[in-house]
Amino acid sequence: MANGITDPAAPAPPGVLPRPAPRYSVVLQGQAALVTGANSGIGKAVALGLGASGADIVINFVNNPEAAEEVAHQVEAGGKRAITIKADVSKEDDVKAMFAKAIGHFGTLHICINNAGLQRDAPLLDMTLEQWNTVINVNLTGQFLCAREAVREFTRRGIDREISAAAGKIVFMSSVHQAIPWAGHVNYAASKGGVMQLMRSVAQEVAPLAIRANAVAPGAIRTPINRPAWQTAEAYRSLMTLVPYERIGEPEDIAQAVAWLASDASDYVTGATLFVDGGMTLYPGFATGG
Ligand code: NAD
Repeated sequence: MANGITDPAAPAPPGVLPRPAPRYSVVLQGQAALVTGANSGIGKAVALGLGASGADIVINFVNNPEAAEEVAHQVEAGGKRAITIKADVSKEDDVKAMFAKAIGHFGTLHICINNAGLQRDAPLLDMTLEQWNTVINVNLTGQFLCAREAVREFTRRGIDREISAAAGKIVFMSSVHQAIPWAGHVNYAASKGGVMQLMRSVAQEVAPLAIRANAVAPGAIRTPINRPAWQTAEAYRSLMTLVPYERIGEPEDIAQAVAWLASDASDYVTGATLFVDGGMTLYPGFATGG
């Protein structure tokens, strides 16, 4: 493998060094960030990354409170404050209560990361309405509900230039499947296509309020959501035919992109989708001429 990353199931070959640990600039001091689905995978890495960048963190979870507490302890060990809040992002009352509790705890919020998501895969002919609705409700409606509450709070407070150039920042977790169709996953691909236009329309609407909205579109990232795609050496080899950069993404690859979008370093960026995918959207099938 060009990147020295082997099949996850195989021992590392001699001479291959582990990738460097992510390094975060401390640029979010004095800000509070809410991360949905923050007790697993990408959301956990984002919570820890924003904490390492100086923010206090609201760790949303819907199940496995122990894992959420563990993330909170890690944020606190780095010297920042953390609170865990249970809420199902697809439920309006839960989302409103979560924002009220988070704002009551930290005084306000400056950053909202709409990360929670799930898959309920099935071929089109077998897909139930429940599978369709579950994915749309969590992946799309959940991001709408959280974005709306975040904009309400950012607008209420306005800009504090000591803290950030913007009144608030929202990052939507999309996917390469906002662009790449995905047979057997029509609910998921539709939800992420929806996230793209949700994000862009929100960005257009709230830009005059000095609120920025952007998305990160991960490729194949090593998390529980897609374990079958990387768990065995054979699956990993097959996955790599889709990834020109020839390594799977790690949650920290996404966290570092999110930290930049949440910071003033990206203050002139809004309505953008940042693909973090090792080139998955570069039509790898055409690499040898098609
Ligand atoms: P994950 O399964 O490890 O994490 C998903 C998180 O969302 C979990 O904490 C889960 O409990 C939470 N969640 C699910 N339903 C929820 C609800 N109703 N309310 C609140 N939280 C809920 O998977 P992940 O890979 O870390 O996924 C995070 C995001 O990244 C998702 O939006 C996913 O679509 C997106 N994504 C992941 C990949 C990848 O390769 N892993 C690729 C593209 C996009």
